[in-house]
Amino acid sequence: MEQEKNVKKGGISVETEHIFPIIKKWLYSDKDIFLREIVSNACDAVTKLRRLASLGHFEKKDEEKYRIDVTLDSDERTITVSDNGIGMNADELDKYLCSIALSGALDFINKYEGENSENNGIIGHFGLGFYSSFMVSDKVTVESKSYDGSGAVRWTCLDSGEYTLEQSNRQTRGTDVIMHISEDGEEYLNEGRLREILEKYCSFMPVEIFFNVVKADDETLKKNNDEKKEPEEPKPVNDINPLWMRNPSDCSDEDYRAFYRKVFRDYREPLFWIHINADYPLNFKGILYFPKIDNEYESLEGQVKLFYNQVFVADNIKEVIPEFLLMLRGVIDCPELPLNVSRSYLQNSGYVAKISKHIVKKVADKLNSLFTNERENFEKLWRDLKIFVEYGSLREAKFYDRIKESVVYELCDGKYKTLGEYLDGKDDKTVYYCNDKSEQANYISMLEAQGIEIIFLDRNLDNQFISMVERENKDVKFLRVDAAVSDALKEDGEKFSSDGLVELFRKVSGNDKLEVTFENLKDKALPALLTVSEEERRFGEMMKMYGMGGDIKQPDGKLVLNSSCGVIRRLADSGDDGTPVARQIWSLAVMAQRKLTADELKEFLSRSYGMLDKLF
Ligand code: ADP
Repeated sequence: MEQEKNVKKGGISVETEHIFPIIKKWLYSDKDIFLREIVSNACDAVTKLRRLASLGHFEKKDEEKYRIDVTLDSDERTITVSDNGIGMNADELDKYLCSIALSGALDFINKYEGENSENNGIIGHFGLGFYSSFMVSDKVTVESKSYDGSGAVRWTCLDSGEYTLEQSNRQTRGTDVIMHISEDGEEYLNEGRLREILEKYCSFMPVEIFFNVVKADDETLKKNNDEKKEPEEPKPVNDINPLWMRNPSDCSDEDYRAFYRKVFRDYREPLFWIHINADYPLNFKGILYFPKIDNEYESLEGQVKLFYNQVFVADNIKEVIPEFLLMLRGVIDCPELPLNVSRSYLQNSGYVAKISKHIVKKVADKLNSLFTNERENFEKLWRDLKIFVEYGSLREAKFYDRIKESVVYELCDGKYKTLGEYLDGKDDKTVYYCNDKSEQANYISMLEAQGIEIIFLDRNLDNQFISMVERENKDVKFLRVDAAVSDALKEDGEKFSSDGLVELFRKVSGNDKLEVTFENLKDKALPALLTVSEEERRFGEMMKMYGMGGDIKQPDGKLVLNSSCGVIRRLADSGDDGTPVARQIWSLAVMAQRKLTADELKEFLSRSYGMLDKLF
């Protein structure tokens, strides 16, 4: 009876009956976060007490350790989160859990109810704090004893909003939140599932968290007997001093590597990393890793984890981390981001835009410093960095602007040069490149023989990247080795031309519109060359990359006949007899430019055998 008198009964205001269904509906897409909310409240409770202790308002016993326990009892269908933090007295509990928390919840709902369900992602991630426990519970009991010495209290609330607040005989300081799991939360009664979300959200929270599973007594005994060894000292599931919170000068390379392995479960070494430690007013920390990329496509899926004061929020939030940086892996901890954040808030926030800009700058600075200070190493990494640099430059002009002086090109001979170095001292601002060293070997060796350097571009993005570089540098032109006959390959002198030859080659090529020109080439043994228009070819490749244009055959291009070549000169005078030789010259020119089709090859071989027979 005594007890009965002290029991306070209530209903959480008129609106509550609307609140619980809304909480369930709104947060339905991401129920997992209930655990993060309850455990981070427990962390906050410890942090508050720590602060009071450091201010001298509270004296902690030396032997006492701050800790949080998450306990699963699947027989009782409960998940309990206990802390030995600041605790709450009756007034505080009433105020914080019944009034304030709820008014917060109401505000939240009023604010976001109008927004469409696309926002679920973020809203789900920044939950409703304490009330998210009702996504998985039909009853929540909170037992708490404040550090201030007042009597302990027990608060029990049903998912209808009805609650009771009464005295409790709890002796120890701190709070237990006991969630009685409903059918909706069934999956969380599974040890593996619960551990998984604990690790996902709580791995770096600032207070040690222990995960306990209540087992029936006989089961535990049997297990201990079977194993016949001392039970191990329990280990916390989290690391309370994550690497990003430390001072970069206190972190060794091995620390960074170990952190990378553990967090991203990648046993390949990262190429390098950037530790960001932005002071006021940005005030955020983070580490970004450049992962080792084994193939072109794998890399596009990075992972950047966003934290709020060591509490995991979500992966890959594009609004905070520029999309192209999501090819990287890393962690960003932004304690300044307000808790109830919606996607539209992030998109319009000046603060978020500044963070994003700062991250881009840091990444660019790192690349520039590697280029300037460790050029050899930078070149070694270039093949792995290139796709990132190209993609980033295409996505964000500011990024390209910052790093353009550090972009290098791989030459066919294995050297690396920047655009400036390549063009240094040249009047002609043409950059020659190839994308297949064996298919284009003939053109490459001709140009190299004249001292022309050729860069090697073999990736899908290269095309778009060089088009962008051309737009940025109006006088620079990238030409594939077979795109034109370089001036260096020609020599002056009287040019000969023959309408008859033009006709003949149109006939043997089967293309009556074939463009045929005449040049005096230095290499007198070379009868003819095919050149393919750079623009048309790039356009065709682009269409193909976007899956348009299907199997449209690339044009064979223009035929350049070498007026300095004896065979060509004789052919001009030979009339119809020249046809087989012209056919052969055409085939050779095509072969030097691309692979023959099966039919072309068959025809070429049988013609060649016939020629051998006549020769010998
Ligand atoms: P928030 O954490 O965003 O303030 P919550 O709804 O999660 O909102 O919690 C409301 C308030 O209840 C907290 O601000 C805190 O004062 C109190 N509280 C919740 N959990 C605990 C706890 N484990 N120990 C002490 N106080 C708590």
